[in-house]
Amino acid sequence: MTIDLELLAYLCHKGAPYIDMAVDGTGYLPRTVIGVGTFLLDYDGDVDLLTAKQRVTYEKFLLPLLFAVPCQGNAHSGGCRGVGLIDADLLLKSYRDGDFRCRLCRTAAAPPTAV
Ligand SMILES: [Zn+2]
Repeated sequence: MTIDLELLAYLCHKGAPYIDMAVDGTGYLPRTVIGVGTFLLDYDGDVDLLTAKQRVTYEKFLLPLLFAVPCQGNAHSGGCRGVGLIDADLLLKSYRDGDFRCRLCRTAAAPPTAV
């Protein structure tokens, strides 16, 4: 899995509140997770360079935020129409907009095109 560095950079800076939410109640500090994220940014996302401890932190918090973000589906029709996860190329947009939906759900929710 190749890390989307642009997405990781977002999470370590503007998107840090998402990391705060992820660590909330776990006993981990947001700055620990951001530290691992920053390390990865410095090394082009090469997770092989992480220490065992950093790797645990990465897999526990950053991996899910980078690769496995659940689609929240549509308010009207309920569940996700896709596979339940947000498409990789829509993740950054999802975080920025606070709109956590996969492509299929976005398309389904889009207003009908005017003819
Ligand atoms: Zn969906």
